Amino acid sequence: MLLAGGVLAGLFVGSFCNVVIDRLPLALDGPNEYGELWDTNPWGHVLGVGEGADSRSRCSECGEQLRWSDNIPVVSYLRLRGRCRACGEPYGAYHLWVELFVPVAWLLVTWGVVHFQGWTWALVPYLVLVPVGAVVATIDLHTLIVPTRVVWPAAAVTAVMCVAVAGLEGQWAWLAGTAVGVVGLAGPLFLLWFALPAGMGFGDVRLSVLLGLVVGLAAASTGAAWPWSLVLAVMVLALSSALGILLAIVRRSRKVPFGPALVLGTLICVTFARPILEPFTG
Ligand SMILES: [Zn+2]
Repeated sequence: MLLAGGVLAGLFVGSFCNVVIDRLPLALDGPNEYGELWDTNPWGHVLGVGEGADSRSRCSECGEQLRWSDNIPVVSYLRLRGRCRACGEPYGAYHLWVELFVPVAWLLVTWGVVHFQGWTWALVPYLVLVPVGAVVATIDLHTLIVPTRVVWPAAAVTAVMCVAVAGLEGQWAWLAGTAVGVVGLAGPLFLLWFALPAGMGFGDVRLSVLLGLVVGLAAASTGAAWPWSLVLAVMVLALSSALGILLAIVRRSRKVPFGPALVLGTLICVTFARPILEPFTG
């Protein structure tokens, strides 16, 4: 029951992620002062509330309003073969991947953490990171921007969750590990951005603050003392760099987004935090 409910919830959360992915980015007429070609729409526009907003899903090509039966996660995509019912324009395969990614990643992260270290409240911020990460990574892939409108609120919510987790588990020392995770992940990326601003966007530094919270909590929740959060953060950087290089090879481009690699590297290291740190901490 729990499994079926989780998968079903994951499919619908994934479907909502697609709404955000489609509506949040705003194409600019020319490069802004940071040289970016994209900005983001306000949340009112994304969620379809407020003045002149449209809450219904429409085809971005012909404007045809989608029926409720065209909004069923995965099923509708496959039945319509990923195309608009009215004009036949393809929706983009990422809709299907995002809808599948959220429930699958929820299952894998939960399985890994429970298998290696047992049930812990720390799972909650990990599972919240899955849809947030899917949105950030997909938007970064499409636009090369990391949307601040997603990252900062998610970081604030995650920081509150980390305090709540420490309180519920009666482990206030975990917060020291969480803070070290932020420094360990965001620190090196900030220095890299500072030294080579052309090589990487500042959006990746912001993203690494959010991810560092989760990485630091993951290291602490294995029972490791706070310095070990630094080790897990370095592991995330190494794995993400490898994934980033892989993406550059696949895309045959030097201009690749780092966000998707950081998100994936974080989710993997958080899931396997215990076996990664065990050789060091015993
Ligand atoms: Zn259409």
